[in-house]
Amino acid sequence: MRKVLVLEDEDNIRSFVVLNLNRAGYDTLEATTGEEALEILREHPETRIALLDVNLPGIDGFEVCRRIRATNSKMGIIMLTARTLEMDKVTGLMTGADDYVTKPFSPAELTARVDALYRRSGGEEKQADSGEIFQPPFLLNTRNRTLEKDGKRIKLTQVEYSIMRMFMENPGKALSREEILDRVWGRDYFGELKIVDVNIRRLRLKIEDNVQNPTFITTVWGYGYKWDA
Ligand code: CA
Repeated sequence: MRKVLVLEDEDNIRSFVVLNLNRAGYDTLEATTGEEALEILREHPETRIALLDVNLPGIDGFEVCRRIRATNSKMGIIMLTARTLEMDKVTGLMTGADDYVTKPFSPAELTARVDALYRRSGGEEKQADSGEIFQPPFLLNTRNRTLEKDGKRIKLTQVEYSIMRMFMENPGKALSREEILDRVWGRDYFGELKIVDVNIRRLRLKIEDNVQNPTFITTVWGYGYKWDA
């Protein structure tokens, strides 16, 4: 069963989200506080996607995201944010969320985001492709979807993995932000280009020797990014 956790303290919004996810064929687990959400995820480790409201009594959605990511890099996480502040989006993504949806959102928009993330998190079993891409010091295993740098495992979210794979399959090629958005998030994704920058910033923190002076993922000013391993 395709299981999604919905953390939202406002009953009417939670019911609305649950109803629409159920209609789209998802099985839902509901939580009204961050603490409860974490408890439910412990009891249901098979949960593939979590929708996290940001403003909550008790610990907030960012903290829940951080705690999920401390032990689980694979779960798909979408933040539900009431505010459109750029900082909120950035904070959410930097704490490890894969995506965000700003309230108010339409049922179609929400399920499209969940579907996209579910596909990306390996929800629909694809033919296992075997193989490794080795570009010292990086080794990307496309079967296990893992990355090593100098033989040490670097934990990546699904989105970060997709970005790394795209880069390593296109060494030395300048990729525009639009192209990265299309390749990683899909052509049917109506997100903002900002999400590309934030994910790359987060990825750099994990893979670069010196984040202030990145040498693997370099910026192509006014255009996008380039992989230089
Ligand atoms: Ca709330």
